[in-house]
Amino acid sequence: MKILKFGGTSVGSVESIQAVLQIVKQTYESGEQPLVVLSAMSGITNLLTKMAEDAAAGLPFMDDLKSLETKHFDVVKKLIAVKYQNPVLTKLKLLVNELEDLLQGVFALRELSLQSKDLILSYGERCSNYLVSKIMEQEIPESEYINASYYIKTDSNFGNAHLNETLTNQLIQALAQTHSGKLLFVTGFIGSNEQGRVTTLGRGGSDYTAAIFGSVLNASAIEIWTDVNGMLTADPRVVKKAFSLPVLSYTEAMELSYFGAKVIYPPTMVPAFMKKIPIVIRNTFQPEFAGTRIQFESEKSGYPIKGISSISDVSVINLTGSGMVGKSGFSGRLFTLLAREQINVILITQSSSEHSITFAVNPNDAHKAVQLINTEFELELLANKLSVPVIEVDLGILAIVGENMKRTPGMSGRLFHALGRNGINVRAIAQGSSEFNISVIINKEDLAKALNAVHDAFFAELKKTLYVFNVGTGNIGATLFKQLHKQHDFLLEQNDIEIKVVGISNSRKMVFNQEGIDLSEWQEQLENEGTAADLGSFIQAMQAMNLPNCVFIDNTASKLPSTYYEEIFKSNISVVTCNKIANSGSYEQYKCLHETARKHGVDFFYETNVGAGLPIVRVLKDLMLSGDRILRIEAILSGTISYIFNNFKGDASFYDVVKKAQELGYTEPDPRDDLGGIDFMRKMLILARDAGYPLESADVQLGNILPERCLQASTVDEFYTELLKAEDYFNQLKKDAEEQGKVIRYIGSLENGEVKISLQMVDEQHPFYALSGSDNIISFCTERYKDRPLVVKGPGAGAEVTAAGVFADLVNVGA
Ligand code: ADP
Ligand code: ASP
Ligand code: MG
Repeated sequence: MKILKFGGTSVGSVESIQAVLQIVKQTYESGEQPLVVLSAMSGITNLLTKMAEDAAAGLPFMDDLKSLETKHFDVVKKLIAVKYQNPVLTKLKLLVNELEDLLQGVFALRELSLQSKDLILSYGERCSNYLVSKIMEQEIPESEYINASYYIKTDSNFGNAHLNETLTNQLIQALAQTHSGKLLFVTGFIGSNEQGRVTTLGRGGSDYTAAIFGSVLNASAIEIWTDVNGMLTADPRVVKKAFSLPVLSYTEAMELSYFGAKVIYPPTMVPAFMKKIPIVIRNTFQPEFAGTRIQFESEKSGYPIKGISSISDVSVINLTGSGMVGKSGFSGRLFTLLAREQINVILITQSSSEHSITFAVNPNDAHKAVQLINTEFELELLANKLSVPVIEVDLGILAIVGENMKRTPGMSGRLFHALGRNGINVRAIAQGSSEFNISVIINKEDLAKALNAVHDAFFAELKKTLYVFNVGTGNIGATLFKQLHKQHDFLLEQNDIEIKVVGISNSRKMVFNQEGIDLSEWQEQLENEGTAADLGSFIQAMQAMNLPNCVFIDNTASKLPSTYYEEIFKSNISVVTCNKIANSGSYEQYKCLHETARKHGVDFFYETNVGAGLPIVRVLKDLMLSGDRILRIEAILSGTISYIFNNFKGDASFYDVVKKAQELGYTEPDPRDDLGGIDFMRKMLILARDAGYPLESADVQLGNILPERCLQASTVDEFYTELLKAEDYFNQLKKDAEEQGKVIRYIGSLENGEVKISLQMVDEQHPFYALSGSDNIISFCTERYKDRPLVVKGPGAGAEVTAAGVFADLVNVGA
């Protein structure tokens, strides 16, 4: 025989009840002899609790009672043939009337004992099982409703009663004998004490009922039917990427559920374990899926852990003091005291010096626990051997679980790295001596972020999600969105990276969408759904969303975003930017930003600050990191100037070439912004700093291309007039170069900590001789690349290549 237990979510509506009946019928007809255990209809136990508490507080409860009645009656009307409805409705009405009497009693006395509450709660399971058994009876006449409170005997610990195994065994066995051949619908969750008063087995306790029946009746399996595909690697409501686990050991399932995986009630594992009966968690709404099998042996899964679970609200009590040192009885006394008063201690950690004990409890128990401690340890407190216990609130627990953990080194490293990188502060750590679990206490508000970050860290083969906030939607921003949109599927399939742009702002508007903005229509979304742009609020919203693997992209050319970088790093968010302003400002700022990013374990990537998408910053960094030493860097890092000197040959006049460059859009509106070398200077400064030199922009020796009078001109037109007048100067330069078989190049160099940018003539031996078009080129002469320098060359400007560089930085975040 087999136990089929259906949770509240499986008996929540007409449709779901039909799905349940289908599964029961199939099992029954296959000759499996199922015994069915049902929970109350979904939401009913909570509703009963509310009504009871309202009644005790003198508040009205009749509306709620009416809705409870309607919820059950509706099912009768839809699923029972009209001619059979009456007796069922009458019986249900009787139950509802009894319930009303009980609630009236509570209301009159303004008192709700745990005993009365259990009795009131029992009506949920009694109504649902009676109802569903009657529906099934229409097709399977052997169906029969069983009130399990007559068969499950417990102590009098109302609300969370403990099983009396011997008595229960006898009663269930007798039931099986007298009801052989029947299809039983047994109430989950409830039992009764020695005096026959109804008790409950704890919230979620119907799973436990199923296991108790399964164990006594030696079932071949205990199937827990719910609304998800088995036990998942994490709570699917929080971690969207959680996936179903095919096999778990009892211990693993126990640990996961103890630390919050609600899908199965932890005590359920005990009776099943004792008899090695497999528990199978299955989805009522996807019955073809095999679900999760919980069995004696753990199975290797290819992942170092099985799952991650969490408890979202705990309080932590800290006890410190010399009174605890070497006193072996201290913790014994403490925890006996708490156990005696029924305070459940969720987790304990003790410092190795025994100077402090930290333990976590349900927030409702915290004050009581402290009062008990104050009384029990009064003498120690008076003698200052113990300091006054401190309660910390609004905390949560995250636990990673798996039997393979003990054979795999580096588990806690990986856990703490994921937490640290995302700025999640760990308040306390506990590792079970079994090494099946490592638990950390963190702020409650960080739980969702932590669960996702840790899930990404341990199930790395799964796709990693980067959450992007982008400011700047000009040429580069817009091109980046186009590229991200186009590459989305490829990245996901080939590299397991999903990039979600969750915030976009330009200077006018900003828009957010945590699910990811559709990049095929970001303009419309920004226009139609966006609010007035404000960088401060944009950054606040980004911080408030508290997402893991979060990246801020600055695709602007303005200074304002860079003033926020430091704060962004401090929120453990990485920055990717093509904006040079931050890195080419004061050295102090450069240093501060780099240090802050490092301290917070996040990335600061700006490959496109130098040579657009060309790998220059990265190459320099790799050379430095691998211990190479830079002897000399030479570079041409202005596409515009490159273009001009590449075309200034033969008969061409300098004036014409500059004009043409401007017409082609290669220059700034005022060509002097390029020819003045400032932009080039910034790039060289960044490289020098990255190479380890603490330089300021004033330290760069910037040689002029243009004669003084051209620079002095007050308008662009006047500049061109002066340029025409300087024709002889430029022709002379060209002639000199041509006579020597050389070409003119505007070259930046870094050597011995000095940066110079100047016009030079180079012969064909020089790597820069053959530079064409508007290309950039850089040569690194290092200890390792001494005889033949390492050269990077290619297009160093343009929206496509720059956006591609930003894209490359982005996918490298966190790598
Ligand atoms: P039932 O009504 O069937 O007893 P529960 O609500 O008690 O269902 O438990 C099922 C729910 O548990 C799922 O809907 C899911 O949201 C939640 N849950 C939390 N953690 C996990 C997990 N690790 N795996 C599966 N479900 C989980
Ligand atoms: N109905 C009870 C509850 O909601 C028992 C259960 O669903 O397992 O806690
Ligand atoms: Mg449940």
